[in-house]
Amino acid sequence: MNCKKAAGLLLRALDGRLGEKERRQMEAHLLGCASCRAREKEYREVLDLLRPGRVPEPLPHFETRLMAKLKESERARAVLVWPRWAARAAAACFLVGLFSAPAFFFFNLESL
Ligand SMILES: [Zn+2]
Repeated sequence: MNCKKAAGLLLRALDGRLGEKERRQMEAHLLGCASCRAREKEYREVLDLLRPGRVPEPLPHFETRLMAKLKESERARAVLVWPRWAARAAAACFLVGLFSAPAFFFFNLESL
């Protein structure tokens, strides 16, 4: 078996889906090939991470750091609400002025 064939069979080997002959060939190849052994180790580690039911432990002080970030985010959001509200009020005033100006101008002409 060469490295290319071993790489193609590696996932099946890790799942236990190789036939007896291929399994023995793979084991023999892995014994003599350091790069394929390294690849097998990487695949095995990735498969271990993807295994269902495996929940990684949170880092130390995770909850403390999370709560600090949440408070910081809430403060930032509160600051952003006022400019948004002020922009809407300014737009509303502009529209009221825009639509009432012609009427005001028209009434002033009739009074002359
Ligand atoms: Zn190899």
